[in-house]
Amino acid sequence: QALTSALLYLDAITVSFDGFRALNALSLVIGDKEMRAIIGPNGAGKTTMMDVITGKTRPNTGTALFAGVHDLTALDEASIAQLGIGRKFQTPTVFDMHTVEDNVLLAVKADRRAFANITWHRTAHERARVDELLERVRLQDQRLRRAGDLSHGQKQWLEIGMLLAQEPRLLLVDEPAAGMTDQETADTAVLLREIAKTRSVVVVEHDMQFVRDLDVKVTVLHEGAVLAEGPLDQVSADARVIEVYLGR
Ligand code: ADP
Repeated sequence: QALTSALLYLDAITVSFDGFRALNALSLVIGDKEMRAIIGPNGAGKTTMMDVITGKTRPNTGTALFAGVHDLTALDEASIAQLGIGRKFQTPTVFDMHTVEDNVLLAVKADRRAFANITWHRTAHERARVDELLERVRLQDQRLRRAGDLSHGQKQWLEIGMLLAQEPRLLLVDEPAAGMTDQETADTAVLLREIAKTRSVVVVEHDMQFVRDLDVKVTVLHEGAVLAEGPLDQVSADARVIEVYLGR
């Protein structure tokens, strides 16, 4: 299978800010239903890479293809979301004053065209969909709590559940373990592994224990390009990776 027909194909992506290259000929290929962890020191270009994939930042040069046919460099953010690319930012943004299940209900209704007609009334179909999503992110028992009363970890899971309502083919997740307890971190790794059985997931993360728990191929970014790629044990034994993390 040609690389260009992979679910996500980035090749030679360069992003310059006033001459400074935040991404410098970055290439990355993510397969269908693959989960990949992206690590790298601050300033390596991880956020800029996510911004390019979601259309928030347009690269100066390079190729970005989704599902082999969609040119992400030519589409706006809304069109890219429509293609099935969902992004979970580091800080959860849920409706604190509404219950957990109503947050999910809103996300379920959001894929309807007729936004103007959204009500809290739920059809049998919507009810089933909310139940299913709550179960997938393990918040069934929390459904009637106000989202604002959830723990930080539970809020992250709620937001992931809301993103899953759109059934993205590619889910981008930014530092999910940040601020989580050890138990929440471990549970999140299990949750993401479950989610990655049916879609591709790209996780940017600093927490190495969490990356170990994910147990997936790791890409190390440095100065806007890929420094190393492979299993965590392999890349963490790579002299260049050690130098980048420890040698300065
Ligand atoms: P990471 O997420 O890996 O920490 P970023 O993608 O945020 O890295 O940043 C990569 C580099 O690009 C950093 O040196 C950062 O200062 C720079 N950068 C990011 N966004 C901008 C911007 N809008 N304007 C100027 N420089 C930027």
